[in-house]
Amino acid sequence: MQRNWVALSRSVDLTKTVTEGLCFATLDALVAIGAAQGELHEQARQIASTCFGRRVFVRAVVEVSNYCRENCRYCGMRRDNRRLDRFRARLDLLQELLLHHRPSSVTDINIQAGEDPIVVREVVLPLIKTLRAQTQLGISVCLGTLNSQLYANLQQTGASIYIMKFEMADSQNYSEMGGPGALSERVDHIRTLARMGWHVSSGFIVGLPGQGPQDLLANLAFACELPLDGCSVSPFIPGDETPLAAAPSGSIDLTLNCMAGLRLMRPGWVIPAVSALNLAEPGTGYRRGLRCGANLVTINLTPKELRGDYLLYKRDRFIMTEERILSAISAEGLTPSTQSLAAFYQQRESCLNVGAGHRLGAVHPQVVG
Ligand code: SF4
Repeated sequence: MQRNWVALSRSVDLTKTVTEGLCFATLDALVAIGAAQGELHEQARQIASTCFGRRVFVRAVVEVSNYCRENCRYCGMRRDNRRLDRFRARLDLLQELLLHHRPSSVTDINIQAGEDPIVVREVVLPLIKTLRAQTQLGISVCLGTLNSQLYANLQQTGASIYIMKFEMADSQNYSEMGGPGALSERVDHIRTLARMGWHVSSGFIVGLPGQGPQDLLANLAFACELPLDGCSVSPFIPGDETPLAAAPSGSIDLTLNCMAGLRLMRPGWVIPAVSALNLAEPGTGYRRGLRCGANLVTINLTPKELRGDYLLYKRDRFIMTEERILSAISAEGLTPSTQSLAAFYQQRESCLNVGAGHRLGAVHPQVVG
């Protein structure tokens, strides 16, 4: 199939281990299993340890709306899912929860929603204002593509990290999967956010129908071309109420190998262990993520009565509580960071006077593969 790439400023050789000083994962690395996979993951773990020590950032997510104007075929919150009870969380309940009942290990809050500009104005902005006035918490948002004025309002109110996933690097595949808008628009928004001074994290999905290892390699290349401070790798989990309900889940091994590859390519990036690792390999997937270079974990604080309808994956969600998170971190010999992710970015930027358009993280050890 003809593949169309966008936003790659130069061609990337996907077959070489090292290209012009740029460390790049190879196909062999991405499909590694057994001893070769163990070696790859250990390399990634060691590089994360060199850059971040044993610390892992601990954030909490609150999912504040499952309304979405988009229609991604891989997501249960797509607008065509008429069986979903839609909600917007109440501001006063969120304020009470985050001010008075958040776990003590949490240093950052991620406020997440479907593409729903109404909730941004009515709930997210006043919530950030409260958090900024009354706490030292770092604030991230994952709210989809908005207009520049809303980006500016969110930033002025006190958020500093924007999560905008590109999902997949192939524009034709993106459009077939009904990704939000067009891939080129998504990338424009990522670049705009970075220019505005946001710390931007992105992400892609592993195991979508029709996707092969070559596509994953392209996803890695694509991520590295973007002005990011972090990137997630999520296994595809077929949602019950989506057109892809009958498709198989993404491979945990490919997902973890992509995470390890990303860590080796971008040692200074923040790479989360996503909760879907628990679904891709129940019991062990999440801890394996921490063992291949992840350095961010997320406690789910969405009120119980709402979280069942936040259908990113299946209704039967595996909720990451503080207890589960801390136990996984400790079992892997890691420790929760007492510095927030937002403060870490701020400190790093001021120390290194990072130039516009090129953030720290683009350190390239000559390894992988
Ligand atoms: S993936 Fe995001 S943009 Fe797409 S339907 Fe789901 S919530 Fe909406």
